[in-house]
Amino acid sequence: MEKELTELIKKMVIDLGASEVGIVSKKMVENEVDTIDLTYTLKNAKSAIVFAVPLNQELIDDYLSKKNQKLNLNKIRTTTFAGGIGLEVASLLKQLDYDAVPLAPNYVYRKDSPNGLDDRKPPLSHIFLGLISGVGFMGHSGLLLTKEHGSAVVLSTVVTDAELISTKVLDHKDNYCDKCNLCSNNCIPKYLNKKETTIKLNNIKYKTREYRNKKRCVLVCAGYTGLDSSKKWSSWSSARFEVPKTDEEIVESIKNHVPAYLKRKRNAGVFYHPLAPGYQMEYSCSTCQFICNPDKQTRANRYKLIRNSGVVVEDEKGNRKAVAPEDADKIINKMYKKRRELFVDY
Ligand code: SF4
Ligand code: SF4
Repeated sequence: MEKELTELIKKMVIDLGASEVGIVSKKMVENEVDTIDLTYTLKNAKSAIVFAVPLNQELIDDYLSKKNQKLNLNKIRTTTFAGGIGLEVASLLKQLDYDAVPLAPNYVYRKDSPNGLDDRKPPLSHIFLGLISGVGFMGHSGLLLTKEHGSAVVLSTVVTDAELISTKVLDHKDNYCDKCNLCSNNCIPKYLNKKETTIKLNNIKYKTREYRNKKRCVLVCAGYTGLDSSKKWSSWSSARFEVPKTDEEIVESIKNHVPAYLKRKRNAGVFYHPLAPGYQMEYSCSTCQFICNPDKQTRANRYKLIRNSGVVVEDEKGNRKAVAPEDADKIINKMYKKRRELFVDY
């Protein structure tokens, strides 16, 4: 029965649109970090089903080179779709008299963390669960790297009291992360970095980059600002405020940038997020997620696209385009003062 149900659920997840699926058993997560404690979500949990849904690779080059932001909408819809797969799987399990809880792919945080939602601590880490069940490898980016799609996937999990047969971790020798650092080199706020740390899960050690204050990523990925320190290229954010050096200043600057954030338009599609101003967040980076690919040359090409993509500016209707850095300066300098304050410091 266990075997039959396991195969049925794995096939269902793939049939519904995932590219990879793994199964975690309760035994694999006992006495481990609390973000893989299945009982946090379901008291009598015995297994978790973890899966990856690929983003559209064909949209990545145009996004990174700032031709268009179509990938943004693809990310929103794929995230919603991955959540839907979780709901379908949990519904079937419940109809078969098991208990099951589908987790949202993103933007749900523990309320019982010391600083509540602001700690951005997920109920469970899809990345860690995916790692120990063979959905992908650990990348230096801290993201899960799938065999075929790199980290350009959306992850999700269903926790259940059904006893399913666990899947195995991937062979470390096949991990294509060669620490090329193209992900960390393009991280404008230096949330990603070259320093290494080791984590241990289910008795296996994994190397990844040092974990820093998540607000560093929030500042740029959520679009509060986005100009690289070289001033030659930017994220998709049209804001050009300086990225502060210390974590404390970064936390403060996010608060200070809220009024400007709310006044700028977000035309490329938004995620509904409990911590975003107005509860709407438009991704404007995700560079680390999109640059990584199993093929080294693809990564190198994407790096060039980013570095030559220019600087994003925004017109009064909120339409964005990338221009040469000197032209961006001219456009900003021509703005009347009140409007300029939406983009630059004085
Ligand atoms: S971009 Fe390079 S260093 Fe970063 S995760 Fe991918 S392979 Fe590893
Ligand atoms: S999304 Fe952007 S800012 Fe956030 S970690 Fe990745 S590269 Fe850095």
